[in-house]
Amino acid sequence: IIKIKDMHKWYGEFHVLNNINLNVSRGERIVICGPSGSGKSTLIRCINRLEEHQRGSINVDGIELTDNLKNIEKVRTEVSMVFQHFNLFPHLTILENLTLGPIWVRKMSKKNAEEIAMEYLAKVQIAEQAKKFPGQLSGGQQQRVAIARSLCMQPRIMLFDEPTSALDPEMVKEVLDVIISLAEEGMTMLVVTHEMGFAKSVAHRVIFMDGGMIIEENNPEDFFSNPQNERTKLFLSQIL
Ligand code: ATP
Ligand code: MG
Repeated sequence: IIKIKDMHKWYGEFHVLNNINLNVSRGERIVICGPSGSGKSTLIRCINRLEEHQRGSINVDGIELTDNLKNIEKVRTEVSMVFQHFNLFPHLTILENLTLGPIWVRKMSKKNAEEIAMEYLAKVQIAEQAKKFPGQLSGGQQQRVAIARSLCMQPRIMLFDEPTSALDPEMVKEVLDVIISLAEEGMTMLVVTHEMGFAKSVAHRVIFMDGGMIIEENNPEDFFSNPQNERTKLFLSQIL
């Protein structure tokens, strides 16, 4: 469903992504880890066109990511992203945060959008908070709202950029449980995270990045028990 071939990206002179090759199949769950600044966020942001690559190709569910604006809109309806800092609109209620995209981008009626929004809020166990504002919710609740908001766009692929790293420890599990339930339903997902327990139990494949390159990738068992590259070993020794 995602095909990235010989892809490079620069920020000015800085070569931030260097020859990325990555294929993701439908239903596959990939965890991306690596040191700070290794290019993890930039990579997943290229997949929904929040960032542009300069060389090579990215194809998402048959859509070739070029500078064609039409393709950008199309890919955003297929791929949804959840950020570390939730990125909810503080002046809108939870329900309004969820219905904004479906009404304006998907041209859904308000009533229909609200029905769907309430279903997803129930799914992330937070339906009773629909009339509140983001600032009135805990971090874990806000992140579950952000996930529900993504789901309202009915994406085929979900990207998570460190979805739990801004949360207090006691809230990490409630958010990971929501992501795990999506995994069980077969959602294709790329998750940037340092939650290695999650990676072990949920990922089909773990990718290690350093210096803008994919250094190593493997199934979780072999990745953790028998890393091949010295940089992977060093990284794992620091976080495990
Ligand atoms: P972290 O774990 O800290 O989130 P990361 O692996 O997600 O790190 P990126 O955010 O992808 O790393 O950044 C990769 C490199 O690109 C970093 O060196 C960063 O400073 C640089 N960078 C990121 N965004 C920009 C930008 N808009 N302009 C210039 N350089 C940038
Ligand atoms: Mg990042």
